Amino acid sequence: MDFYIYNTLTGEKAAFKPVSAGKAGIYACGPTVYNYAHIGNLRTYVFEDILVKSLQYFRYQVKHVMNVTDVGHLESDSDTGEDKMAKGSEREGKSVWEIARFYENAFFEDCRRLNIRRPDVVCRATEHIEDMISLIRALERKGYTYTANGNVYFSIDKFPDYSKLADMTLDELQAGSRIEVDPHKKNPLDFVLWFTNSKFKNQIMQWASPWGTGFPGWHIECSAMSMKYLGDSIDIHCGGIDHIPVHHTNEIAQSEAATGHQWVNYWLHGEFLVVDGSKMAKSGGGFLTLTRLIEKGFNALDFRFLCLQSRYRKQLRFSFETLSDAQTAYRKLKGRIQSMVEGIHEGQPVRPEKMIPYKNLFAGHIGDDLNTPNALTVLWDVLKDEALHPGEKQLLVEDFDRIFSLDLLTPPEKQIPISDEVRIKELVEERNRYREEKNWAEADRIRRLLFEMGIILSDANGGTTWEVRL
Ligand code: AMP
Ligand code: ZN
Repeated sequence: MDFYIYNTLTGEKAAFKPVSAGKAGIYACGPTVYNYAHIGNLRTYVFEDILVKSLQYFRYQVKHVMNVTDVGHLESDSDTGEDKMAKGSEREGKSVWEIARFYENAFFEDCRRLNIRRPDVVCRATEHIEDMISLIRALERKGYTYTANGNVYFSIDKFPDYSKLADMTLDELQAGSRIEVDPHKKNPLDFVLWFTNSKFKNQIMQWASPWGTGFPGWHIECSAMSMKYLGDSIDIHCGGIDHIPVHHTNEIAQSEAATGHQWVNYWLHGEFLVVDGSKMAKSGGGFLTLTRLIEKGFNALDFRFLCLQSRYRKQLRFSFETLSDAQTAYRKLKGRIQSMVEGIHEGQPVRPEKMIPYKNLFAGHIGDDLNTPNALTVLWDVLKDEALHPGEKQLLVEDFDRIFSLDLLTPPEKQIPISDEVRIKELVEERNRYREEKNWAEADRIRRLLFEMGIILSDANGGTTWEVRL
């Protein structure tokens, strides 16, 4: 069975044909670690997780690479505004390095709660400066760059296919970019490869380079690291749709200028999560984190279920009502599966001929550009089908959950097991140590972690007690 995906580059849905038979290389733009990920970002990572697991379901050996942007990303994607990492550092009175590591950990903790598989390679920009310098030098040798006011720029006029991904004219691309244009750019759409002339006082992250001490522009990291880990012909590259007109367009220009051939075969983009009609954004303030949802009484997997109920290329209109509906539906589904499992009798023979049609239906929907809502319908049909016995249903649920990753066969916890009590005590003690050190951020993180485990803490009379909130 073919695996169909919608390719932004061609504007069409097409059967996936890998560069190497049986393998799939995926590069996904990762987080800029200056703040918590919001649930819009997380929606994109859930979509990418479904993509990876679907390819594995279709028996591809997947190599999934994700970057962590810990340097060089300015507020606008086109080189204007504040440095995001410096902003985080000022906001919290910590060094940029502390900020980067803290939010990177927080990001992967969110992913863990959402059952998002950790990519095979996670690469930090700050650990790949040499790779970026080599790529910029290659571009320089081929005549694609110029230096102005101390910075090295990519000249988009030298790359005739510049607008092919966004499928817009240069005028349209320009109209969509920020008004504040760097006067040193020959073309307003040119972008910085290397900054030496930092407009930011006290720039801490700096490295020596052939053009002077400085730091890389944002786009170059993804080209350099993706090619390092996946080679210069890559199957799939993905991210949110906001990356199409600037970041991914620039990535293509610099990568294909350097290699002289097509770089990525399939570009996949997830639509936005929106609240009250607007895209959720970190800069907007008031964004919602996964922890916030958990504090409001939801489980991380309620949110994952909500994401799976709509197609990744459609906007997801978030509200607490829709999340609450998703929670009810997810609980109902798990309850139904639980009673089905309780009805299993040993020794009933499994009949593949009864199961295969469902597997094919399921794979057909997943292979239709990741149609998770329809795939969920197949799951319900399995549960309702009286011609299947519970053991067969269980095998199908387990099989589908390889992609859904909704812990469908894990019974809902009714009580805290003894082993967890030991863990809870350890966490409470760890938190108390942080409190003594006045490390409120870490103490708070543990309080939230315990809350997620269903534990509420009370600090009174110099001691901490806990109770189960279920
Ligand atoms: P960032 O950490 O801002 O670089 O974004 C991380 C990922 O989240 C990128 O793939 C973005 O395209 C994506 N993204 C940003 N905002 C949203 C949103 N509101 N809904 C869905 N994805 C988003
Ligand atoms: Zn990127």
